[in-house]
Amino acid sequence: MSPRALPRVRRSFCPPLTGHTRPLARLIEQFERLPGIGPRTAQRLALHLLRQPEEQSRSFAEALLAARLQVGQCRRCGHLSAEELCDICRQPERSSGLLCVVAESRDLLALERTREYRGTYHVLGGLISPLDGVGPEALHVQGLLARLDPEQVEEVILALTPSVEGDTTSLYLARLLRPFCRVTRIAYGLPMGSELEYADDVTLARALEGRRPMEA
Ligand SMILES: [Zn+2]
Repeated sequence: MSPRALPRVRRSFCPPLTGHTRPLARLIEQFERLPGIGPRTAQRLALHLLRQPEEQSRSFAEALLAARLQVGQCRRCGHLSAEELCDICRQPERSSGLLCVVAESRDLLALERTREYRGTYHVLGGLISPLDGVGPEALHVQGLLARLDPEQVEEVILALTPSVEGDTTSLYLARLLRPFCRVTRIAYGLPMGSELEYADDVTLARALEGRRPMEA
């Protein structure tokens, strides 16, 4: 069985660049659509690729397409995976009764980098955000509830960013989960609004270690 398809990312329209031959302008436009890439970086990357051997461009294009076509979401936890179950869900020693809830796969990867956590994860696919019209039904909440009993989850650790959306989602989940298991939230040495992804490993490891019961 193949993994679930990934949700689409909405992108704003980028006006076409001028001064380049059309195939090069197209390539620059594609780079510019990537997060954190401005027009100058996009141009630098495109020109760099053109200077490389043709074989390298072919490998790059193939890797891009293969990743896009093969990587979806793990049917259990929602993490990126090319298989029905991701690498973490396929490790039997991970089922320790501990389940850590994150907003996105990149947060899971940040926690994995600390090498401190040996439980399983659940990727929500976002945070509750009434202003953006994102309610709990848009997130993988039902899948989370469905895991508690069969996996004998004793503690759910909420590892969501310290922001209005992160707090709202943590509170919502804590109320929902508390009848079934212990619910904790990681401690933050981070300022409000900071992303988990950019926290250094030591800070994240300490945040995990210093988790506290959620109070609603
Ligand atoms: Zn998984």
